[in-house]
Amino acid sequence: MKNVDTKGLVLFTRHYRERDLLVKIFTESFGKRMFFIKNASKSRFTASLQPFTVGNFNATINADGLSFLNDVGDVVALTALQSDLDTNAHASVIISLADEVITDGEYDPALYDFLVKTLELMNAGVDSGVLMSIFEIQLLSRFGVRLNLTECAVCGRRDLPLDFSVKFDGCLCKNHWAQDPRRQHLEPNTLYLVGQFQEITLSALTKISVNAQNKQKIQDFISWLFDEYVGVKTRAMRFLEKMPDWEIFKLEKKGESNG
Ligand SMILES: [Zn+2]
Repeated sequence: MKNVDTKGLVLFTRHYRERDLLVKIFTESFGKRMFFIKNASKSRFTASLQPFTVGNFNATINADGLSFLNDVGDVVALTALQSDLDTNAHASVIISLADEVITDGEYDPALYDFLVKTLELMNAGVDSGVLMSIFEIQLLSRFGVRLNLTECAVCGRRDLPLDFSVKFDGCLCKNHWAQDPRRQHLEPNTLYLVGQFQEITLSALTKISVNAQNKQKIQDFISWLFDEYVGVKTRAMRFLEKMPDWEIFKLEKKGESNG
């Protein structure tokens, strides 16, 4: 048991027994930990512990079992992630993947930093669908999946239209498409953008613009990669896949009330 200071991001909260609360926080210095808040409605910390909140935590970290908070400061709630349905759905996916990809208690400040930076950009209004795709494609290697999405697996060319091939676990340029009749038949532009996303650094990213149609194709391809190579589908990912139907539903409702 030790008393420590660390930055952290609240991943989620869960009611526990009648009055208590469990809060999962991704701490910068001690990985993901579950914290126990006794008598949550009376705790001075509860208001600061909404999901998508970053702060400084003084905590008692236990090697096994639950940890405890002694103090919470410098709290910043990423409010756009809490209030906007679309942004919230994308942010929830990346939180769920960050939770999935490492075990609790594993020290991983690089992942913490990548996660918080991505969420902060979403909160600042950068396209949340694009940011989610960047996060997902760069997380693949942490799931043990290393795919070269920027050059032909046969000849190494990067300047010709590419397509993805399961047979080669990578890409084929136009000259080598014949080597896999069952290639994915992606639009070359989709794969080009995913390749860019794989290599981009968030600090270099100020403004991205991808039209809605391309964004959906990119998301579909990455979702397929996760099915094919990772086998992980979190609840947040399934929820997001159902979202387009919701959008149509909302539009129809609007049409009805106006008509
Ligand atoms: Zn080639």
